[in-house]
Amino acid sequence: MLRVSSALVVLMTGSSGRRQQLAQENVKGTRRARDCGNAHAQKIFDYSATDDWGNTAGWETCGTGQIQSPIDIDIGNAVNVHSDPLSLKFTSQSQVKRENNGHSIEVHGDFANLTLSVGSFAASQFHFHSPSENTVGGESFPLEMHIVMADAKQSLVVVSVLFEEGAENTCLAQTLDNEPETGCDDELAAVDLTDCFTSVMEGDYWSFDGSLTTPPCSEGVKWNVMHKTATISSAQLAAFQAKYTGNNRPTRPLNGRKITHNVVNASDGGGGGPGWIPPTWLATLWLWFHA
Ligand SMILES: [Zn+2]
Repeated sequence: MLRVSSALVVLMTGSSGRRQQLAQENVKGTRRARDCGNAHAQKIFDYSATDDWGNTAGWETCGTGQIQSPIDIDIGNAVNVHSDPLSLKFTSQSQVKRENNGHSIEVHGDFANLTLSVGSFAASQFHFHSPSENTVGGESFPLEMHIVMADAKQSLVVVSVLFEEGAENTCLAQTLDNEPETGCDDELAAVDLTDCFTSVMEGDYWSFDGSLTTPPCSEGVKWNVMHKTATISSAQLAAFQAKYTGNNRPTRPLNGRKITHNVVNASDGGGGGPGWIPPTWLATLWLWFHA
């Protein structure tokens, strides 16, 4: 799997000096202090010219890579595997750094942990794309959240949640409210995804190999896209889209990659997803696993 490169570290971390400045301001009670000296502002890439990303020095993999993300999840050709739920647990975090890096809003923190057969992963940040980057059976969703997680060796896993418009997402109310301007960051008082996303994590999911969806498009990233969607209100979506329009890389060719459909609780449809498994398949799966 991918080891976090120095370029990625630049993308994923801020300077300790700025953190100290924010911390000092918070001690003084300026909770929403904003810091705009962010180097990320110089790393904005053009979503209207994604085919050109690979022409930039250091980003060649965006053009030449064969295991690129995002993808269209071809549900008819995914391999069904009976599986336990993804063992992702959320934890509450306070005074979390929130950043507008020019292409998305990104929230940094160790707000979740995940145990896989290959090791234990801790969240480093989550961010959003609108419309979704991964598609399912050709269908796009209005928003996709990427939870980026790393193990002790800095191998990367992304857990992805697709959204549909509906009820307000109360867990993201702070995150999506009054976002900082491009190149700026601030601190959120608290972030806790438990109430809004635990049931999503208990359902089916698709897993496959892929890459970062942003330059340098490094490969070796293990992807897990949750089957059950979350909701976001039309007002929350509009607020996000007012700052970030079309920050989705188009889907990339599969090039023979296998997509695994991890089927949890096959007898009841795997946690109330939007119905990707036709009922006849469900019956077949039930018989297969219970015969
Ligand atoms: Zn992303």
